[in-house]
Amino acid sequence: MSQPRLIDGLQFARGAETLKGSLDLSRLPRLAEMRCVIQCLSYELRGRTDVQGRCWLQVSGDGALTLECQRCLKPVTFPLAFRAELLLAESEREIEAADDEFDRVLASKAMHVDRLVEDEVILALPMVPRHEQCSDGQGGTKAGKPSPFAELAKLKRIQ
Ligand SMILES: [Zn+2]
Repeated sequence: MSQPRLIDGLQFARGAETLKGSLDLSRLPRLAEMRCVIQCLSYELRGRTDVQGRCWLQVSGDGALTLECQRCLKPVTFPLAFRAELLLAESEREIEAADDEFDRVLASKAMHVDRLVEDEVILALPMVPRHEQCSDGQGGTKAGKPSPFAELAKLKRIQ
């Protein structure tokens, strides 16, 4: 196995660097634990600075992944697309003291690219993965009101 991809966060942002790649599930133990199988996922990292000299990392990706349906336990495939703007913080204290709405990540000279992408994939996962309609007809939501979880999952997918 090759070495993990690392970036020097601040240097990457200041140099307005970009990096493209695709995820390798064998590097992503947290997703594997969730029985999440990535069908394909290409990602892009972009560094930039703003007028205030702050350093940002944009992490975006799209692809498809398979999870276990919570109703019939068979695989269900979801499209996956995300884009996050992360403000690079130079210390934990800066992150704790922040009182705005920006997402921050601690900058270091050796940031794991796969882990950054994996964090965003986890945030983008459906909360309750389920088929719209399970093929074997099992599950209790066929008749009557849809469960609130199904409604939530639908909303989340539309966003
Ligand atoms: Zn199902």
